Amino acid sequence: MKIFRKKVVLIWDFDGPVGLINSSLPYNFNYLNFENEIANLRNILKILDQFDVKCCFAITGFSAEEGLFPYSFPELVKEIHARGHEVASHSWRHEWIPLFEKKQVAKSLERSKIALEKAIENRQEIVGFVPPHNRPMTWLRRGAFSLGDRRMFPFSRTGDNEYLIELLKIQGYKWVRVSYHNTFQKLGFAKSNVTGRIFDYKGILLLENHHTGFGEKVTRHILETNFPTYTLSAHPLMFSFENKKENKKNLLYTLEYLHNSNQDIEFVRPIDLLGED
Ligand SMILES: [Zn+2]
Repeated sequence: MKIFRKKVVLIWDFDGPVGLINSSLPYNFNYLNFENEIANLRNILKILDQFDVKCCFAITGFSAEEGLFPYSFPELVKEIHARGHEVASHSWRHEWIPLFEKKQVAKSLERSKIALEKAIENRQEIVGFVPPHNRPMTWLRRGAFSLGDRRMFPFSRTGDNEYLIELLKIQGYKWVRVSYHNTFQKLGFAKSNVTGRIFDYKGILLLENHHTGFGEKVTRHILETNFPTYTLSAHPLMFSFENKKENKKNLLYTLEYLHNSNQDIEFVRPIDLLGED
């Protein structure tokens, strides 16, 4: 088997306190998490530098506004970009998109883009979007529906990936991470690539069904299969949790094994893949 160049896309969902607050169900406010997430992020940046890995941080727009640390941190957003990573939008304040009206979603896309671009002094256009909570997972045109979205078409147009893609294009976004599994995939008939595919869809680049976390299993998947791209994601908050696949030990495992393999493996940012095909 000839091994081709493999591209690994790594996306960090950097929620920030506003995101962590809006992720908490029904009540698990924990101030320590806010500080831990940022401390972890600093650790992650160091490790990425050591391995010379460039990746993408999807950040909530509110976090990039001027304000009180740790609730907002424009300087850190600027630093992430200055260290060579792509900055993408993770919405304005980590909304559950299917529950919001079209105008609210459009506003969230617009505001987050403006705030993040301002924080990095317009040195990179914000063209990527990572939907909070990976919602919607419904995509009717592709035979995928998810009751977990809590609200879907025809009650909520924003509860369908097809519609979100249209909104993103209007707001000037060029790539989006999407999560959906059609019935065949759910039933296990179609053996899916656990790290998803990356392809152009109506003029926007889709990064589908990413894999969350690191470690032996996904590292073997990358080394032993022959896909052109692999999309991984992780949360800085989980980096210090011992029992999480996204923790430091597993990140180091994956980076070391990929680095030491004799395969042609390259970490790329989604923005680097635009206009390639
Ligand atoms: Zn998130």
